[in-house]
Amino acid sequence: MKIYNTLTKKVDDFIPNEDGKVKMYTCGPTVYHFAHIGNLRTYIMEDVLEKLLRYSGYDVTRVMNITDVGHLSSDGDTGEDKMLKGAKREHKTVLEIAEFYRKAFFSDCEKLNIKYPDIVEPATNCISEFITMVSGLIDKGYAYLADGNVYFDTSKVPNYNDLSGHSTEELMVGVRDDVTEDKSKRNKSDFVLWFTKSKFDDQELKWESPWGIGYPGWHIECSAICMKHLGAKLDIHCGGVDNIFPHHTNEIAQSEAYTGEKWCNYWFHVHHLNDETGKMSKSKGDFLTVSLIESKGYDPLAYRFFCLQSHYRKPLVFSYEALDQATQTYNKLIKRIAGLKKDGEIDNAFVENAKNTFIEKVGNDVNTALGITCIYDILKANTNDISKLEALKSIDYVLSVGLIDRAEKLNAQASTTSNEASANDNISPELKAKIEELIAKRAEAKKAKDFATADAIRGELSEMGVTIKDTREGTLYTIND
Ligand code: AMP
Ligand code: ZN
Repeated sequence: MKIYNTLTKKVDDFIPNEDGKVKMYTCGPTVYHFAHIGNLRTYIMEDVLEKLLRYSGYDVTRVMNITDVGHLSSDGDTGEDKMLKGAKREHKTVLEIAEFYRKAFFSDCEKLNIKYPDIVEPATNCISEFITMVSGLIDKGYAYLADGNVYFDTSKVPNYNDLSGHSTEELMVGVRDDVTEDKSKRNKSDFVLWFTKSKFDDQELKWESPWGIGYPGWHIECSAICMKHLGAKLDIHCGGVDNIFPHHTNEIAQSEAYTGEKWCNYWFHVHHLNDETGKMSKSKGDFLTVSLIESKGYDPLAYRFFCLQSHYRKPLVFSYEALDQATQTYNKLIKRIAGLKKDGEIDNAFVENAKNTFIEKVGNDVNTALGITCIYDILKANTNDISKLEALKSIDYVLSVGLIDRAEKLNAQASTTSNEASANDNISPELKAKIEELIAKRAEAKKAKDFATADAIRGELSEMGVTIKDTREGTLYTIND
């Protein structure tokens, strides 16, 4: 397998430290709000990477943290703690917020066929690990105490900018006059490992530490959680591109300072999903969630399919038109698969060959678009349907767009549709015409995103004693008894 490595800035052959085993770490969500579909683009592509590694024969252990403390409204050391902001917004405690949005996150992941990581670790579970690591960094001379906070001294790390590619000028000693930075820092890029003082004194969760009552910085979480579960050496670390600096840069600095050796060999970063006005972000208030697109009638797996059509290293622009197009292509594909017959013998050589071709194509820097091409190649192949189904099932372990599951559902639906159609046979032609006219008007309203009208029509039908059901085949109706 080959992967673009942000550290070397080229596509590298993937060779894990231990033969056949992969230690993988993923920065998890900050659970102060729902994940937007941009965050989930990152998790979808990381899921493909993990499954591709497994599909290629590696034994993967994947760890994900849950950020429930320490992530400030900037990715640096300024602003209010995001969790506290969430708690204030909803008049709940920080732990209630964390619990609610952690569950919401994994429920979204399930809808998108994103596998649950082997280990999920909330930061608030690991305070003693953070304290041990910060103490170690002070002992080794990499961290210092100033005005109540513990800082990491970035000037002690000559390769600090290797990952981000930033210029060393930014690491110059002394806080520049024009930067309203924390004056306690020795260097502009130093960062807080442990806070006991911040502008926001009402931090809800605080713990005893050798430096006073306080809470950890965001960056130390990932290094300590990663080492707790995966040891001193990591094969691959993932996240969105916004994590490259300062988060991952700081993770490398503190981890390597702590262990005295190279920490992680491969850095995998997913580019952002943007909306037409720019980067999608939770702080913008009105943001796109899986539930929102579902409520508009989209299948979450059609969103996954939309993401897989593009390469993870390119920015992707979201629009409903683009999602409509992906949905259309996806539905057509599912319909084709639903038409495959299950008779005959499986041609195992064909399936094996399809699998190897898939690994070769997608394994070249997680090329998911080529993975989708593999689906069409299988469908076009000169073999029986049952072998095609088997090959599709096999590669869908990685793509996870529900190729078999959705096709089976479509076939099951088609048989209920024909039952329902015959149950509606004794309706008068006038009533049938009226119902169909209203259904058509509702479809138009939905297409024009006029959801108020669409809902009003559903109400009108309900008053007439008609229940409607939206399916991939169109809207079905039944007359209530
Ligand atoms: P957060 O919950 O804010 O810590 O972010 C969770 C993950 O989503 C991180 O890996 C981020 O890098 C990633 N991310 C944030 N915004 C976007 C976006 N617009 N598109 C893709 N990934 C994103
Ligand atoms: Zn992280």
